Amino acid sequence: MSLRFNALNRLSQTSAEQVEGTTKITAIFGENVFDLKKARQYLSDEAYKSLLGSIRAGQKIQRNVANQIANGIRAWAESKGVTHYTHWFQPLTGTTAEKHDSFFTLKGDGTPIEEFEGDALIQQEPDASSFPSGGIRATFEARGYTAWDPSSPPFIMHIGPGKTLCIPTIFISYTGESLDYKAPLLKAVEALNKAAVDVCNYFDKNISKVSATLGWEQEYFVIDEALFNARPDLVMCGRTVFGHNSAKNQQLEDHYFGSIPERVYAFMRDFEEECYKLGIPLRTRHNEVAPAQFECAPIYEEINLAVDHNTLLVDIMGRVSARHKLRVLLHEKPFAGINGSGKHNNWSMATDTGINLLAPGKTPKTNLMFLTFFVNTIKAVHDYADVLRASIASAPNDYRLGANEAPPAIISVFIGQYLSKVLEDVKERVSEKFDEQDESMLKIDIHKSIPELLMDNTDRNRTSPFAFTGNKFEFRAVGSSANCANPMTVLNTIVAQTLRQFKEDVDRLIDRGEKKEIAIMHVIREYIVASEKILFEGDGYSEAWEKEAEKRGLPNLKTTPLALDAMVTDKAKILFDSNGVYSHTELEARHEIELEKYIKKVQIESRIMGELATSHVLPPSIRYQNLLAKNINGLKAIGMDESAYSNQKQILDKISEHINKASDLVEKMIEARKICNAIEDSRTRAIAYQSQVKDAFFDQIRYHVDKLELLVDDKEWYLPKYREMLFLR
Ligand code: ADP
Ligand code: MG
Repeated sequence: MSLRFNALNRLSQTSAEQVEGTTKITAIFGENVFDLKKARQYLSDEAYKSLLGSIRAGQKIQRNVANQIANGIRAWAESKGVTHYTHWFQPLTGTTAEKHDSFFTLKGDGTPIEEFEGDALIQQEPDASSFPSGGIRATFEARGYTAWDPSSPPFIMHIGPGKTLCIPTIFISYTGESLDYKAPLLKAVEALNKAAVDVCNYFDKNISKVSATLGWEQEYFVIDEALFNARPDLVMCGRTVFGHNSAKNQQLEDHYFGSIPERVYAFMRDFEEECYKLGIPLRTRHNEVAPAQFECAPIYEEINLAVDHNTLLVDIMGRVSARHKLRVLLHEKPFAGINGSGKHNNWSMATDTGINLLAPGKTPKTNLMFLTFFVNTIKAVHDYADVLRASIASAPNDYRLGANEAPPAIISVFIGQYLSKVLEDVKERVSEKFDEQDESMLKIDIHKSIPELLMDNTDRNRTSPFAFTGNKFEFRAVGSSANCANPMTVLNTIVAQTLRQFKEDVDRLIDRGEKKEIAIMHVIREYIVASEKILFEGDGYSEAWEKEAEKRGLPNLKTTPLALDAMVTDKAKILFDSNGVYSHTELEARHEIELEKYIKKVQIESRIMGELATSHVLPPSIRYQNLLAKNINGLKAIGMDESAYSNQKQILDKISEHINKASDLVEKMIEARKICNAIEDSRTRAIAYQSQVKDAFFDQIRYHVDKLELLVDDKEWYLPKYREMLFLR
């Protein structure tokens, strides 16, 4: 019996796992995290103060104090039955990595003891040779080290019965280049902090720190494990390369907010509980538009922590789903013809005085502050739309962007009717002659219309890649499998850059004798005018928008290899270098890594396509072809009239045609791959893979295979069908 039928049999016998579940989230929230409350409990005053200084203000921790902190963390971890620790980091492979060491060691005289020194907390040297470095380590030896990030608290991971203390770290080369996602994010956050505090101080001298905030919304599919295992394409590339649409898809739109099937519900409660223990503040869970698609979202947090929590969540979902004999699919487009998955990044900036800088204020003065940060963000996206586009470019996201369900590859900003009017208003009223007599100009009474403003945003912004949603921007083009750190590093950097420029521009006017508020209004007006073309309120899915965007001169890069170019332009190099986020070497290295990732992904898909066509699709098709041929021959032999087998003949013709075309195309695709592989330059090779392999063959081969799926006897077909993966409970 084929794997498919085994899986289907097994499926009918699988019922939902029993999950105990807590009734009170607060009772378990953060129990596996060394948060400040536990730090207070386990650390001396000196150590606690030092840790706090490091978290709040990035102060350096002295070595002897680090020893105390390490001891405190160990004491807490041991009280929870932990024996091992690891530096936990986010290499550019897109997963997380760790290397476990035990607290156990032998003293010089052979006495066994448990210890965790400050040195081990602060720094480690994992075997770095298997992580991508884009050539950086090749030039500077194959070494890298991980370094403690005190701003993200240590936590305990439960894997089966094992418990490991995880220390969040950055991963850098010996010469200091970042080799991970976290180090650049921390740098970008710092750049934003400096630039934003400077601008905040125009309005409020008490503000001394600005943090970026992030609330992600994670979309994912869940399917049965046995069916998953019977689909080598899902196993190898997370996406079905073949599969005909089922009779029922999402036309009925009955899945959205629908009832959550019992097995999935049990799985959700289970992984949510692990998340709560790790301090991940999950709030919402619901079904998505597509069948078998779901979403979860937490309460937003400081951005570095939010990114760590998202990568942790992905880990946890993978592990917990296995317990429920389910598989989570994080690919941006696991199923053709059905909505893909994204990871909306809700982003804002918060001050240490408790103000959300993207929330319209209650007074004219705070409104001016809101308007400043609002307009600066729009200007940043306008000026660096290409870099932002590059930050979300990946092989899987190419399947999703612009697929009439996800934002287009054209970066634009949606702000809603009300704020559009406000910006228009500012533009018209703040003329060149605008001066102190026009104090009324400053009275932008946005706060009176907040309800109107929020309502305004519920409608069309769904089709926008970057939408203002009342008190935050929502970057929706981010792919479901992406690490948020990359797009967030870029967003924070471009806003930092724009705010720095803003301060210069305002100061120049102040130096010329303009009153501060007036100068600010003038520069805001200038920025509104300069970035108007990025604003779009219409339907981002429409063809009309593509045309309009082209007229406006907005880039529309649909493929990753070309979109990535924006990472290494002179403009990008100056941007990242002057904000202390990436050196030129680091940018070049990352560009190289992204291209290689792209090539590998397309290559793997292409291989699996060829292999499946040959070993999974053709055999049952040929058998059925034989059966039909025999049948026709038999009917002929006993002297039946042609009309008796004309239908069989028609099916046979079609099957034969699709078999021939599919196998012919597979051969040609293999040849095309060989040509691509011989190309030295990685950018040229990536473009070749995209145009000569992916675009030239994938859809065509799939067309013939999917036709065969419809024609061939169902009981002969090896690969689980869409309806089975998506609709069976
Ligand atoms: P939806 O987008 O589905 O309407 P919400 O508006 O409730 O959902 O929020 C989506 C996400 O935005 C949540 O994760 C929420 O925590 C986050 N969010 C809300 N305010 C902010 C903020 N100031 N900064 C960052 N994220 C925020
Ligand atoms: Mg949303």
